[in-house]
Amino acid sequence: MEKEAKYWEERDGKIRCTLCPHNCIIGEGKRGICGVRENRNGKLYTLIYGSCSSAHADPIEKKPLYHFHPGTFVYSLGTVGCNFRCLHCQNYTISQARPEEYPLAEIMPEDAIKRVAECCDGIAFTYNEPTIWMEYALDTAKMAREKNLYTVFVTNGYINREPLDDISRYLDAVNVDVKSMSNSFYRKLCSASLEPVLEACWGYKRRGVHVELTYLVIPSHNDSEEEIKKFCRWVIKEMGELQVIHFTAFYPHYRMMNVPPTSLKKLLGAYTIAKKEGLHYVYLGNVPHGDYENTYCHNCGNLLIERYGFSAKIMDMDGKKCGKCGEEIPVVL
Ligand code: SF4
Repeated sequence: MEKEAKYWEERDGKIRCTLCPHNCIIGEGKRGICGVRENRNGKLYTLIYGSCSSAHADPIEKKPLYHFHPGTFVYSLGTVGCNFRCLHCQNYTISQARPEEYPLAEIMPEDAIKRVAECCDGIAFTYNEPTIWMEYALDTAKMAREKNLYTVFVTNGYINREPLDDISRYLDAVNVDVKSMSNSFYRKLCSASLEPVLEACWGYKRRGVHVELTYLVIPSHNDSEEEIKKFCRWVIKEMGELQVIHFTAFYPHYRMMNVPPTSLKKLLGAYTIAKKEGLHYVYLGNVPHGDYENTYCHNCGNLLIERYGFSAKIMDMDGKKCGKCGEEIPVVL
């Protein structure tokens, strides 16, 4: 449904949306790049408040979040639209759709919270970019907090500081996609830019939100040794060596059907680079990968959390500490 939006200002008879770094200038009757925020009679409206394209109870491991309430289920909601135009988007049928082009169910915040409480431990805003759903995400996340349910964003990290400040008050965890360390990749493949994404990663972390990072390894586009090293070095410098990262395999989608899937060898290569650079919690996704999905203590190597597919079992932890050596593990339980 439509609702007056937050995060905009009037500028020379037009509207400037200040929700994400595109800062779209929107004329009367027009929409921003995301396709879900419209100027109507000089006011900005969100067209997707409570409008859901998808709703599922998922294992938290599927987001992926491996160090956040392992083994729990999260009620996952998505809508339509995106502030990116990724040529390889897996969910392009919703991310590139406008609200009038896709069947949407109305789930108001209180209904969403009721559903969550029935079957899950928390709520995730995912499937398409949650930043552009900010008004709804804020209201729903506030209610979730009151009910002791956790809240999650799975995001591209393209958000301005004020909304990031606001949502961080009610968010427990985010998984941010860092798609490349190259601005030209972001320009050409996503129609966006790199720097705001990196700022959002440490911005969320600095505000106390649990952060995990996902890097989708795309053959010949972001998989060079230099670029993977650059990513790992940036992670260590800005987020620390205990930062959780996920390297995931690309499969051909949407407008990148001509690019082959990521080989296991390439993914293992990224893993080896990350470990050599000094990162402790590195995981592989979208491939059968055995040991590369388990959590081992960064101090003594003890098996702490065993995973198979999307199931997780805590093996040897004493609260947040390793059951063997007593080292504090960066995990939210
Ligand atoms: S949220 Fe949408 S309308 Fe607002 S600046 Fe970003 S792309 Fe433009």
